[in-house]
Amino acid sequence: LEKKEISIANRKRKIAPLKIGPDTPTRIVVNIGLGANQKTTLKDIEIEMEKAKVAVKKGADIIADLSISKDVGLLRKRLLKELDVPISTVPLYDTCIETLKKGKKIFDFSRKDVIETIREHAEEGVDIITLHSALTKELLQLVKKDERVIPIPSRGGAFIACFMNRRHEENPLYEEFDDILEILREHRVTLSLGSALRPGSVADGFDSVYLREIMVQGELVRRARKKNVPTIVEGVGHMSIGVIPICIQIIKQICQNVPIRPMPISTDVGIGNDHVSGAIASAMAATYGADIICSITRCEHLGFPRVEDIAESVSAYKIAAHIADIAKNNDLAIDRQMSIARSKRKWREMWRLALDGEFACKLQKKLSNSVEEKSYCSMCGPLCALKLVAGENGTRRSKNRDDL
Ligand code: SF4
Repeated sequence: LEKKEISIANRKRKIAPLKIGPDTPTRIVVNIGLGANQKTTLKDIEIEMEKAKVAVKKGADIIADLSISKDVGLLRKRLLKELDVPISTVPLYDTCIETLKKGKKIFDFSRKDVIETIREHAEEGVDIITLHSALTKELLQLVKKDERVIPIPSRGGAFIACFMNRRHEENPLYEEFDDILEILREHRVTLSLGSALRPGSVADGFDSVYLREIMVQGELVRRARKKNVPTIVEGVGHMSIGVIPICIQIIKQICQNVPIRPMPISTDVGIGNDHVSGAIASAMAATYGADIICSITRCEHLGFPRVEDIAESVSAYKIAAHIADIAKNNDLAIDRQMSIARSKRKWREMWRLALDGEFACKLQKKLSNSVEEKSYCSMCGPLCALKLVAGENGTRRSKNRDDL
């Protein structure tokens, strides 16, 4: 099925719509948000705002607010006001937090509560809303019978599973799907179909439970398209890197070739450096057709990331996205320019062309004193291979490489 371009911007936002389609580069989404155990202070909000701003400066295309603090909405309002990139949220988190604040259990929310939270986010200007609509009652039964190491890795999925288990009712995000689509269409909000059952362990991999969820996502994509709601599909998760291309192809086939927003990671033992594991897997996913890669930090599975972890992660994912774009488009122009600049050791030109030139420049200044004035770096010093081959050995100037 031909891939159609989608354009992301809530009707209310005065931002340039973010286009995602066959001719656009791989996009990067960065997760931030206030944690559950915090008593939110103004400083906490400032730190999350700093993370978001640093992420955008480093090249993030979308900021996802995954806050689960008691002060729901505070950060979201600031993000919508101060950033000019699309903001993505998961309204179900707010529904659950509000329910807990009323002294009830997490699953004691009503269908009306769910719909009202989605409406509130859409009216405020949120550009992308994630809904874990594809985890149906039937699928939950399959998960219970399965022997997955990690049955449900997703937070939103866990909340919905809790609701269905305790209330013995169908997932409200599935049952009320058509009414929710009306709200999204009215406010020109992009639907991001969440994946509750993407594998959470490489040992589980691309299994039949996840495949069944993709099939439900496919059904929901068709319904969303009928109502002209731009749609993205989330998924992939922890799986061997060799399986990622197959998984992406299957999602594309079943979900009508809508944009894919994967969260892949291809080993579980890189903990502490999961931004590396995730970026490698994301490069593979994007090479085979994923459109938006979701950056994770080295703190993934360990704790709350710091500003510097977000910055480091976005840089890693910028590289992953660029590697995938080279593979997809065979466009080597900027890499070629960089190689030419490097062969001549034109440092300023290299900083200009680099994906993170500011970082590269600072690093080199630490490693080599006033390097911009030099025709080599501290690695090989005057025995610089590039300099020798160019015939700039200080005693003679050769234009002919054969003279070496
Ligand atoms: S000194 Fe060595 S590492 Fe540095 S630019 Fe020359 S060849 Fe490259």
